[in-house]
Amino acid sequence: MGKQSKNNKKKKVYAKFKGHCAYCGVHRPFDEMTLDHIIPKNKSGSGHEDNLFPACEPCNSLKTDISIEALRIKVIKMNDLTYPSYANGVKNGLIDVSQNPQTVTFYFERFMSVDDVMAQIEMSTVKIAEHIQQKLYCRYEGHCAYCGVSISFNDMVSEYIKPLSKGGKKIVENMNPACKSCSDMRAELSIKNFKNLIMLSPDSLSYKNAFENGLIGEEFTCYFQLPKMERLAKSMGLPLNDIQSIQTLREFCESKPNRIYKRYGGLCSYCGIRTSFEEMRITHGFPVSKGGKDTIANIFPACPLCGETKGELDIKEFRALIKRSPDSDIYDKYVNANLVKRKSIKFFWELPKTKRLKKIIPCGNGEPLPQGELELILL
Ligand SMILES: [Zn+2]
Ligand SMILES: [Zn+2]
Ligand SMILES: [Zn+2]
Repeated sequence: MGKQSKNNKKKKVYAKFKGHCAYCGVHRPFDEMTLDHIIPKNKSGSGHEDNLFPACEPCNSLKTDISIEALRIKVIKMNDLTYPSYANGVKNGLIDVSQNPQTVTFYFERFMSVDDVMAQIEMSTVKIAEHIQQKLYCRYEGHCAYCGVSISFNDMVSEYIKPLSKGGKKIVENMNPACKSCSDMRAELSIKNFKNLIMLSPDSLSYKNAFENGLIGEEFTCYFQLPKMERLAKSMGLPLNDIQSIQTLREFCESKPNRIYKRYGGLCSYCGIRTSFEEMRITHGFPVSKGGKDTIANIFPACPLCGETKGELDIKEFRALIKRSPDSDIYDKYVNANLVKRKSIKFFWELPKTKRLKKIIPCGNGEPLPQGELELILL
């Protein structure tokens, strides 16, 4: 960390209690104040400003590498008015000597509880797990939740809808996938203020993207605020009318077969193997001839081998067929794709969404998708 940013960090920490030591409450000039790691370094406490308290020198050397509660006990036991921290504590009304045992309240506890402090540290230091990021990424099929631009997984920033500093929770329901521009512009703003800021920043990338996606009118409508059908239409690059007027999926497949191709990112929905558009077959999970419905839930893109082997079989019969032919090419295919576990066969579309995404999006072992295809994945 550079000297400048180190100094900036110290300024922020110093300002936490307006120049007072977080423990004994004594006021110290900036240069004499030290920074204390709330969770000690040797307990893997980080150097993040949320884990730092301003402390006078005597308090800091008293706390060394112990916890807040251990420090409290140390002060109670000390009972020594010649030690500055103790004397300041008594003078500032933080140590009640009339009690037995004496009670110690730290200066920072006038503003926040120890639990609050700990919660804040945890929020600023815990990294968001990759599987949560993947979930987030597919929430809007790879689009920024604000300006609607299509982003790659690696460029996605996980945003908090209600910022943590304003009491927002660190849960996936409180997160949005965002492009860098929107994330930078939003910072800690409320959605309402962020929307106003976008309208006032016609030169920004976010405004430009939002405009291209038809999100700018009298005011800016965030991509995630659109009705689901409108988002679907936008991500498919189709007019809303087209989406609404689709009668059957069969009809849809015939007029827009590439949309079905992209439903599983160009992978066969049965074996998970990448298949070219020309070779892709469209199958009904339950054949229409056996009463299967012609709806999106029953449409499965397939590689030639899976498509031809399945034919008019239903899912159960198809699975049984693969299972009883352990010497066949198709069985090998499922073994290689890791879809055979203890002799039972799982189809690619039956895997949990995050596992499928690992294969589809370029963050797992899967091959990267050709550009522009991600936006059409409907898992
Ligand atoms: Zn102190
Ligand atoms: Zn954006
Ligand atoms: Zn296949």
